[in-house]
Amino acid sequence: MLKVENISKDYGPVKAVDHLSFECDQGEIFGLLGENGAGKTTTFRMIMGLIDSKEGKITLDGKKIDYTITDQIGFVTEERSLLTKLTVEEQVKFYGALKNMDDDAVNKALDEWLTRFDILEYRHRKIKELSKGNQQKIQFICAVMNHPRLLILDEPFTGLDPINVKMMKDAIYDLKKEGCSIIFSSHQMEYIEEFCEKLVILVKGKTILNGYLEDIKQEYGIKRIEIIGDVSEDDFSKIKGIQKIEKRNDKWVLHIQSEEVVSKVFKAIQSKKIWKFEAMKPTLNEIFIEKVGGQK
Ligand code: ATP
Repeated sequence: MLKVENISKDYGPVKAVDHLSFECDQGEIFGLLGENGAGKTTTFRMIMGLIDSKEGKITLDGKKIDYTITDQIGFVTEERSLLTKLTVEEQVKFYGALKNMDDDAVNKALDEWLTRFDILEYRHRKIKELSKGNQQKIQFICAVMNHPRLLILDEPFTGLDPINVKMMKDAIYDLKKEGCSIIFSSHQMEYIEEFCEKLVILVKGKTILNGYLEDIKQEYGIKRIEIIGDVSEDDFSKIKGIQKIEKRNDKWVLHIQSEEVVSKVFKAIQSKKIWKFEAMKPTLNEIFIEKVGGQK
């Protein structure tokens, strides 16, 4: 388990990370969310020991993270860190050597991953000749080729098309099944929502939300009803507790104050032709906007 306890980092007057704590269990996917400059990359660098935390501690399976265990951690950095004059094979072998892998293990991993990511033909091409998306895949391969205990992914899907996003997501799920703990940051809420059981939202280094996604959503309760059917605005206009009514193509979206409003709306339209009636919890995007917006 990765345990982050009360870590902080200042850059002069800027509090980049302010008393952050969280845990990521074995086989768990954890999301670190925040706007630009919130402190995500600084957090990852502290976990990797690239910069020191002012206080607190970080452990992996109870052991302080230092150079003796960093080869059990895969890190895909946001700014990408490939040696662009090397060929794909040379680059992967370089990382393999850093991770103490023998030649056979590296060659096996290379064959498997290049085939899986559909880039076997690039094995002897220079990194700089590859598209951004394919460079991304190489960086991912370098991070996971030795089956790490912990995988840190800083914006891993940036620059990937939907087919390649799917390929990488499947690979991440397989690593999770192996028991790898995975932390990742993304500005794209749908990825965090789909992937992460647990998350932290940072605003200017401060934690404003921390916990299991399902619990967080549960706490917010039902906030929206979506209806497709033979109904009009008049059907809802007299119901108390509806804050806003929207029409999105053939769908009515009702923003409601509390869960009690659901049955009132249902009663009001139950004699009509209805194809869809769904009472919904807020999306992570809505929670993020409410939380982060509220801080400003
Ligand atoms: P992004 O989503 O844009 O990558 P982030 O959440 O990863 O942002 P960080 O890069 O961790 O944010 O930055 C957190 C804060 O610390 C920002 O205010 C940033 O300007 C500041 N910062 C980061 N690195 C340094 C540095 N080396 N020197 C001074 N300030 C820094």
